[in-house]
Amino acid sequence: ENTNDLYDLLEQVATYYERCLRTQETGKKAVNYLKSRGINDELAKAFMLGYAPDEWQALANRFDQKPLIQTGMLIDKEGRAYDRFRGRIMYPIRDKRGRVVGFGGRVLDDSLPKYLNSPETAIFHKGKEVHGLFELLRNNGKPKRILIVEGYMDVIALAGRGIHYAVATLGTATSQTHLDLLFRFSAELVFCFDGDNAGREAAWRAMEPAFSALKDGRQVRIMLLPQQHDPDSLVHEEGMDKFEERIRQSQPLSDYFFSALSSGLNLNEMEARSQLVNKATPYLEKLTQGVFRDMMFAKLNELTRSNRLDVSGKSTRLPQKP
Ligand code: ATP
Ligand code: MN
Ligand code: MN
Ligand code: MN
Repeated sequence: ENTNDLYDLLEQVATYYERCLRTQETGKKAVNYLKSRGINDELAKAFMLGYAPDEWQALANRFDQKPLIQTGMLIDKEGRAYDRFRGRIMYPIRDKRGRVVGFGGRVLDDSLPKYLNSPETAIFHKGKEVHGLFELLRNNGKPKRILIVEGYMDVIALAGRGIHYAVATLGTATSQTHLDLLFRFSAELVFCFDGDNAGREAAWRAMEPAFSALKDGRQVRIMLLPQQHDPDSLVHEEGMDKFEERIRQSQPLSDYFFSALSSGLNLNEMEARSQLVNKATPYLEKLTQGVFRDMMFAKLNELTRSNRLDVSGKSTRLPQKP
């Protein structure tokens, strides 16, 4: 199969799902659900939201089966293929050029699994795509900062409140590829994960790719949300101005990193200070040569009253002429 045909097919599927959302009987429950979450028609259109009817063969009866299987829209079980997404709100995932490469689907109630995503296919690679990047670029090609959130609903709720610079990783860990991609469009990335334990862990897990992607001229900030909140719930409760105030008060990565690593350590004790050196060094060594790297090592030395040298060697930078 030509991959162009797969993009075309998913575009048609997205249009079909949109039509289902707007069809009287079929889409009524889904429209009500979206309304209950504050998503109006305009917002649904901007993100091309749709509804997959609660049927086993909705796509199978309407489109060619072979490419549907190749794009993961059908599950092929012993020669009988059926729709992967049934009875779900459908969020198309578009690449940065706007081509539909996959879908996320959410149930309308408390049933499990809450979300279902397209599998990896010839045109969809989770480690590479970020949800909402196309929409962000369409609104504002050069945003001052980009917010990285966890969920589709967070991106959409923020856009609904006028914050058009958020993207979501697709239920997978933030990778260096994601960050390098986003740094092409903005010099400042703000991690804004959920206030629950999973979100806090995700923020810490993002440190390694962040250190690898950072270099002078790029910065990462971390925004910790109150427990029990995610960006969607918070922006609904507080509104845009308060949320933007929180963004301004986010922590620079350097502060977040050292305070996260030192928490629980008594730095009056040499043992604790040596622990901090050992924990921090592997991260710092991922930083690209530059002023920021030098300053992070200097900060580590200051905190631990050690004299840790930057072991990977001398700076390769030449002195700048005044
Ligand atoms: P909602 O507000 O609709 O309940 P959420 O975005 O707040 O959803 P979380 O439970 O915080 O959902 O999960 C964050 C993100 O992780 C989701 O948006 C989704 O992309 C992904 N995710 C969650 N659960 C699953 C799952 N069972 N399978 C795949 N991805 C999932
Ligand atoms: Mn969560
Ligand atoms: Mn959430
Ligand atoms: Mn949520």
